[in-house]
Amino acid sequence: MPSISNVHPAEKPADPAGISPAGHPQKLDLTAEIARDLIRFDTTNYGAGRSNGETEAAEYVAEKLRGLGLVPELFDSEPGRTSVIARVKGRDAARPALVVHGHLDVVPADAANWSVDPFGGVIKDGLLWGRGAVDMKNMDAMILASLQDVINANGAPERDLVIAFFADEEAGGVLGSHFLVREHPHLFDGATEAISEVGGYSITLGGQRAYLLQTGEKALIWVKLVARGEAGHGSRMHPNNAVTRLAEAVAKLGRYEWPIRLTDTTEQLLGEIARILEVDPQRVGPDELALATGTASGFIQASLRTTTNPTGLTAGYKHNVIPDTAEALIDIRALPGEEDLVLSQIQEIVGADIEIVTMHRDIGLETEFSGPLIEAVVSTLERHDPGAPVLPYLLSAGTDNKALSTLGIKGYGFAPLRLPGDLDFPAMFHGVDERVPLDALVFGRQVLTDLLSQY
Ligand SMILES: [Zn+2]
Repeated sequence: MPSISNVHPAEKPADPAGISPAGHPQKLDLTAEIARDLIRFDTTNYGAGRSNGETEAAEYVAEKLRGLGLVPELFDSEPGRTSVIARVKGRDAARPALVVHGHLDVVPADAANWSVDPFGGVIKDGLLWGRGAVDMKNMDAMILASLQDVINANGAPERDLVIAFFADEEAGGVLGSHFLVREHPHLFDGATEAISEVGGYSITLGGQRAYLLQTGEKALIWVKLVARGEAGHGSRMHPNNAVTRLAEAVAKLGRYEWPIRLTDTTEQLLGEIARILEVDPQRVGPDELALATGTASGFIQASLRTTTNPTGLTAGYKHNVIPDTAEALIDIRALPGEEDLVLSQIQEIVGADIEIVTMHRDIGLETEFSGPLIEAVVSTLERHDPGAPVLPYLLSAGTDNKALSTLGIKGYGFAPLRLPGDLDFPAMFHGVDERVPLDALVFGRQVLTDLLSQY
């Protein structure tokens, strides 16, 4: 039987993994072991082309794939920016291929804010801690572990799988998914659907467990606001001050309340929430229904409208010198199809004298919550967590599904995790003290194995 060899990253010592409450060492599930190993590769992506790179992590996952008898290919878009692709032959060649993908990079972590080393792969209190434990080295590990299970149990999955581990997702996938889709589209030949991150996790709704399946993504537009004024001495009367002008624009935009507009996905989600809560959706407002999803409401409320968050400020070089320019970064997440309208509205909000420079933009997506894959996901979850409803949702963020969609591949967020009700899982995406319960990883492995064996 092919099995994934147990190789740890060289630079970190093997730790006293999984000490049970009684003090006895506890055998880690393969999923937790791989996720822990991956966390120990610091694949921080700082954005704007600065990154620690993914090559070591890519070689690690490639080795795991080789251990399963597969032939992974590694692609470098730039030195150090490595993505890995492997095709798994399915039993039924007539079925279209399914892309199962994860990303290997993570956002930066400021260790001073964490209660553990973010790149230590610490196992504590029944959870795996570290940058990537949630986004998304957990799913990377679930993909590898379930692939081993599928190959061992059945020899092959039902249909062809394209297993992809992308670089650079956290900077919009320019050097990862977008690069591969553009330069090597044949890798995805025959694929019509994809599953990946930020969906499939459980929430508590009306006192019962439910699962969110991501069937759409908002568009993203990253812009820079530039205010220009006159440089001068900090002691003078100076009405034409770029910093003041920028600050006014940032405050206006940051406080702007974008109107609610429901899409097919959010309308369906709110209808389902109302049904479960047994309330009339005509009488209970969208925000109120969204709040009923508890920890997930931060994601859900943001999916009901456009958001424009200031995320960075740059101006000035000396305390007594007024600079002639000031710049702010704005993270815009527009509802699918409203990107250009939103940009023109932003110009009105900030005023004509502020220049808007688009740094990066990507499309929104929306896919129907029906069809064979959805049915397979729902019935698989029903087998593993009977009675828990599965709800569609529109992700307020974006994933590599955007790039795959340009090849006509419909992407979903399905990284299945059964979570305790008191864990604020959505807050840990890009948050501090990212952690995932070890038993949720085992659950995810089992659900994914079941799905890939049958679909
Ligand atoms: Zn992610």
